[in-house]
Amino acid sequence: MENFYEYDEQFRDSIGTVDKEGKRLWVYPKKPKGKFYTQRGIVATILLGLLFSGPFIKIGGQPLLLFNIFERKFVLFGIPFWPQDFYLFGLAMITFFVFIILFTVVFGRVWCGWACPQTIFMEMVFRKIEYWIDGDARQQRKLAEAPWNGIKIWKRTLKYGIFLAISIIISHTMMAYLIGIDQVKEIVSSSPFDHWSGFLGMVFFTGVFFWVFAYFREQACIAVCPYGRLQGVLMNKDSMAVTYDFNRGEPRGKIKKGEVQADKGDCIDCKLCVHVCPTGIDIRNGSQLECVNCTACMDVCDEVMTKIDKPKGLIRIASYTNIVEGTKRIFTPRVIGYTIVLAALMVGLTTLLTRRSEIDATALRVPGQLYQKLPDNKIQNLINILFINKSFEPVELEVKIRDFPDAEILQVGKPQIKLQPNSTFETVFYVRVPLNKLHTSKMPIRIDVYKDGKLVTSTKTNFIGPLNIK
Ligand code: SF4
Ligand code: SF4
Repeated sequence: MENFYEYDEQFRDSIGTVDKEGKRLWVYPKKPKGKFYTQRGIVATILLGLLFSGPFIKIGGQPLLLFNIFERKFVLFGIPFWPQDFYLFGLAMITFFVFIILFTVVFGRVWCGWACPQTIFMEMVFRKIEYWIDGDARQQRKLAEAPWNGIKIWKRTLKYGIFLAISIIISHTMMAYLIGIDQVKEIVSSSPFDHWSGFLGMVFFTGVFFWVFAYFREQACIAVCPYGRLQGVLMNKDSMAVTYDFNRGEPRGKIKKGEVQADKGDCIDCKLCVHVCPTGIDIRNGSQLECVNCTACMDVCDEVMTKIDKPKGLIRIASYTNIVEGTKRIFTPRVIGYTIVLAALMVGLTTLLTRRSEIDATALRVPGQLYQKLPDNKIQNLINILFINKSFEPVELEVKIRDFPDAEILQVGKPQIKLQPNSTFETVFYVRVPLNKLHTSKMPIRIDVYKDGKLVTSTKTNFIGPLNIK
């Protein structure tokens, strides 16, 4: 039985949704039903609720999430992030990818079937509308093959009209995450001539979503999604995934009246697991790149097993090791290694996030200036400081030179350092140090920034003096 995969390897030569001439084979999956489908429906409803309510949720007057790449404004859970925080974003991305790798090594593509927006929209929204209007797989196929008549025109108009309406809603929601809900409301409530770029953006994204869900469908998972392509390297024989128990199921075969079942496995070769699959594969061929772990085949096979009075779980969430040896091995050395790396990254990210200041400052000596000697025997440098207020409050700041009691720092021109919410302010300072306090011609100095008398950040630069100082 260990050589199960050897007796039919043909499926590896082609993909289930393309014929020998390379033409697309349209998948008409049978409508799933069962325990897992119901659970997926609940998970999808919660996730869709979160997705569509997200742009309306504000924390302290700020959006929950905003990824305004056009104006370089990013808000995560009400906390603003600036391009200067890019190192945090980079670290968060690395942490996220390690998490995805670890999750995939242990649980396979559970993400794809249960949480990926593409699958949720396709299977839990668009496909359900299709079943409602066109009927189950058989009726859908019949309608597709039927000549254009009144009923077909009406059904197609209704279906694609609803698809378009949902695509418009999705594209507006996506734009709300990009430019903010207030901007989207403004674009929607005014003439397209006043917001050409915003309007065209919405039209473009609506078109993309409509095309993906009405036409491209499972091809996005099979041929485009990079995560799907990574499965081959991420998953191993200990990874949990939707798996057919070939030990129990083979040799497969239909039960004929009066036949002794003992010579056969539990799989009655009804092919319902194939008919229900939204990516058009046969899970009995083993773990495949096209499988998005949607569990529809588990539901239908459980129903068959119940009918023929066999235990459920012929197709179940299991690893190859689990099927062959009957054991479960989750904490393999690879998983332990990824877990340690992930824990270290999460600790690092949390530390950096909690220590992140809402005020940032960068000091640089004014280009082309060295130093000036003043009549009172002090050396003066001109220092330029860029302040960033990452908060949503106006702030007033003060600066002091650290550990240098006789040094002075004076703002050139403007008397105050005032910053509007979420803004920058750049200004020049005189830094003066008595000549007799300089120990070297180039001394590092640290400038502390205070808000309401509290140290909020500090920045470093070099103070330049005459060369003959020893
Ligand atoms: S649904 Fe179950 S019994 Fe039917 S073909 Fe698939 S694995 Fe075999
Ligand atoms: S093989 Fe099963 S779990 Fe995988 S995509 Fe097809 S129906 Fe879903």
